[in-house]
Parts: sequence; structure tokens; C-alpha cells
Amino acid sequence: MTNRDLANLMYPNVTKTPDDYEKKYPDRNLPEGAVVSRFAPSPTGFVHMGSLLTALIAAKVPKDTKGVFYLRIEDTDGKRSIENGIQGIIDDLDNFDITIDEGVVSESLEKGIYGPYIQTKRKEIYDTYAKYMIENDLAYPCFCSEEELDEIRSIQEKNKERIGYYGKYARCRHLSMEEAYDRIKNGEKYVIRLKSHGDFNKKVEVNDLVRGKLEFPENDIDTILIKSDGIPVYHFAHVIDDHLMRTTHILRGEEWISSTPIHLQLFRMLGFKIPKYAHLGLVMKVDEDGTRRKLSKRKDPEAAVSYYHEKGIPVEAVKLYLMTIANSNFEEWLNQNPDKTIDDFKFDFKKMSTSGSLFDIEKLLNISKNYISRLTKEEVYSGLCEWTSEFDSEFYNIIVNYKDYTMDILNIEREQKKPRKDYASYSEIKSQIFYMYDELYSPTGYEWGSITDRKEIMNILNTYMDKYFDVSCKEEWFDNVRKLTDILGYASNMKDYKNNPNNYKGSVADISTVLRVAITSKCTTPDLYVIMKLLGKEKIKKRIANIEKILAD
Ligand code: GLU
Repeated sequence: MTNRDLANLMYPNVTKTPDDYEKKYPDRNLPEGAVVSRFAPSPTGFVHMGSLLTALIAAKVPKDTKGVFYLRIEDTDGKRSIENGIQGIIDDLDNFDITIDEGVVSESLEKGIYGPYIQTKRKEIYDTYAKYMIENDLAYPCFCSEEELDEIRSIQEKNKERIGYYGKYARCRHLSMEEAYDRIKNGEKYVIRLKSHGDFNKKVEVNDLVRGKLEFPENDIDTILIKSDGIPVYHFAHVIDDHLMRTTHILRGEEWISSTPIHLQLFRMLGFKIPKYAHLGLVMKVDEDGTRRKLSKRKDPEAAVSYYHEKGIPVEAVKLYLMTIANSNFEEWLNQNPDKTIDDFKFDFKKMSTSGSLFDIEKLLNISKNYISRLTKEEVYSGLCEWTSEFDSEFYNIIVNYKDYTMDILNIEREQKKPRKDYASYSEIKSQIFYMYDELYSPTGYEWGSITDRKEIMNILNTYMDKYFDVSCKEEWFDNVRKLTDILGYASNMKDYKNNPNNYKGSVADISTVLRVAITSKCTTPDLYVIMKLLGKEKIKKRIANIEKILAD
């Protein structure tokens, strides 16, 4: 009885060898220093901001080096996969303009010669390598039941020993080939375990691109490689896939650091070249009570990538924010190069935080405000059309109907040296400019300032409309507001007013507030002159007539 007999019994239909796959998936022909990296999510139907950050960097580094970025779907854990989970991931990447060079393009379409890129379609490949490992005495079948494993654990606990399937506790490692052969022949269930020759008392080094040199004990656990249903576990699939897809850089979450010694061991046992590893820190959040915790899929709506799409926060702004938490020098670089994009920035693994990055939605919104303020009116208009077409058809119809008018509104205090920073998202624009459209304007309340007396308000408004309404140019408009102020006994000069407040009924600020509130129902708005010019005399007249009615009630 030989290992080969056992391997043939376990995999009678496998006729290929690792060599066949080495030939099928040749080394990539890329320039020196080109990075091949991948995004390898499980199709859980939900992309977390932490994964998006990983994807963003995994896509950026190949772009900087003329390499390849590909998408692989890790669906070997059937329990975690959901229907349409793959499409959800593709849509999220698409929404964030993260383009893949290769891999899964849709549920039924793949691009590239290193596939299949969906793990459940790669069974034949895993089988071939599992057979090879059995044949070469690098792995063995294990028949231990749950009860036997529990028993091993309790002995180890009692003896205060390390928990795990290793050394003398790795019972099936010591079975004779004949016994293993017969038990399989008899239809007994088994898993395939690694035959580890690691020594726990020796050290193995992991060179991490983010964290530098890390030291671990060698792995001596005969870890499971293939489950009893014939499906590989992550460790096995990762090593085979990343080797055959010729990945140079593995970017993944820090939860995988502790299993890296197993991966290095497998790479060596199979004679594969070891890729570079970058373990990225978790994305954290500080709770109101000050505790730091992982940004959670369950508790934090902002953890889901879809949140930003639904809120209409521009993709570019989210990416800028993610870059600020990815690389500590990015923000300063961006401040110095406001006209450049992420593509111009050279990403550096060494500038990543090792203790996890803090996710701060307020800061993200602030970056978004800055970003939107620097767009042209055409760009904001087009972003607004895109968002409303999906989420607010009423507003969409209005802004399409009044295209030029809407662009003029969006242009208020824009395209100037210090543009106004009003909007952090497309979803909040309507609530800030609704008063510019009669279709949307039906105020339920007015935020009057210091002047609240009905007669005084009507006197200000009527005098203005009768004698001083003029929107021909800003100087004229303001001159007239000042004249109105003086004639009604208010101070048009703020300095005079501050020096002698008792000489006046109020100031020009109070008068402008009355005009502003009467016309827009709000006491803070952008430039009132432009608002009035755009609305025009007729609409303003109607609104003032309405005030008279409301105040009379
Ligand atoms: N499927 C693994 C996960 O979702 C990917 C880890 C990796 O990138 O290798 O955690």
C-alpha cells in the first residue's frame, strides 16, 4: 500500500497534476515592479466600508505600477453566501468607480485567463492539489468525530496544554495507510488535514508591508485543508488561488495575520513563490461614551457602502475620505495639490495605521462639502440629476424642466475663490433650495428675526415693493435696501448702529432678514440679491401677498 493508492482511492477522477496547472496559468508578462492584487470577498451581499477601503487600495497599487487588479469571489462557505450576493459586490465596486482588470464581471461572466475566479467553480483544481498532497505525504485523511475532537480538547485543558490537533493528539496522523484506506473504502466520512512538520518552539518571520517584521511560532497544527464535503477551507484555497492567479500582493484584513504562518508553510510545502502580505487594520468608530470599537455592520448604517449611494454623497468624496484614513500624509498632500486626484497620489503601505483607522462620518461629510463646493454648476447639476432620477422623481422632473434656472441656483456663490460650502450630499440640496420653486414652496412657518410685529413687517415689505424694488444689479439693489432702511428709521450703517443703538429702531440686518424670510421663509440663505433676481418680481410679489394673509390670520 502506498500514498499513491490512497490518493487514487480518494480522488479516482482526478487525472490532472499541479504541473498541468502551472502550464495553464503561466507567469504574467508584466513590467518590473508591477503589482498583481485582488479583492476577494465572500458574497454576503454587503460591502463594508472596511472592505471598500481594502478594495480601493488593492486597485490603486496595481494602477500605480502598471499591474493587474482582479476580483475573485470566495464562496466556499455556503452559509455566508446569499442570493445576488455577487451582483451586489459588483454593483458596489461599480458605484465607486473601482474598475477591475480581470475576474468576475457579472454572475455569469468572467474576464481573464487565470480563472475561474469564483471558488466554487475551481473544485477540480483544489482536488488536484489535495490529491498531490496526499500522494506526497503532505496531508492525510482524518476520521475524528466531533466527540473525539471534544475529548482531545478536554484532555488538553485538563493537562493545561495548548489546544489543537497536533503531535501526539493528531490521532489520525498515526493511522496505518491500510486502516485509512479501508475506512474510506467503507464509506466513512473524513476531512483532509495538513501533515505539519512545524516546530512550535521555533520561530517563523512574516514580513508585513504595513507592520514590518512579525514573529510567530511555527505552525505545528494539522489544520483542516478540505472539509468532509470536499470543499477547501480558506487557507488552502487562498494559497492555491493566489499562486495560480500569480498574485504578487495579498491585501487583507488583520484578522488573517495569525494564520499567516500556516499560509507560508503551505506555500513552501507546495514549492510556490511566497507573495507579499499587507494586513490592513480594522476600521473603527468611537462611540458617544468614548469607547473605540469596530465599525459595525449591525449598528452603524454608515458601515454599508450602499449608504453613500442612497444619501447621494459623491463617490469621489468618499474615496478622498478613505484615502485620508488609509495614508496619514494624504490630506496634507491634497491640501497642497487641490487640483489633483487620487490617481496622482503615490500610496505607501508604510503610512498606514497599524492600530486601525478611525471612521468619522462628520469628517467625511466635511470633505464632501469641500468637494461639492469645488465642482462646476454643470457638474453639480448632473450629479443632482443622477441622484434624483433614482431617489426623488418629483424633484428630478422639476430640475429637468427648469434646467438653466436650476443651474443658476446651484451656481450661487460657486465658481469663485472661496465657494460656499452648502451641500455635503445630493440628498440635502432640495431642502436647501426648495424655496426657489413655486412647485415646492408651501411654507408652514416663518423664521422671523428680531422684527416680529405684523404691522412693521408689512410696512417694510410694502414700502420696499412700492418704492425700492430693484434687482438690476447688486449695487443698485443694496443701495435701495439701504434707502429703505434709512427712511423707516433703521440704521443702514452698522457702525453708527453699534455706537448709538438707541437712536434707531434696528439695523439694515433686521430689514434684510424681513425681506429674506418673507421671500424664502428662512432666516439664512445664500446671497439674497441673487435669489431675488432669479425669482423675479412677480413671484416675490405673490409671496409677500401671502405673508399679509398669513399674518392677518
Ligand atoms: N474571503 C476573505 C474574507 O472575506 C478574503 C481574505 C483575503 O482577501 O484573502 O475575509
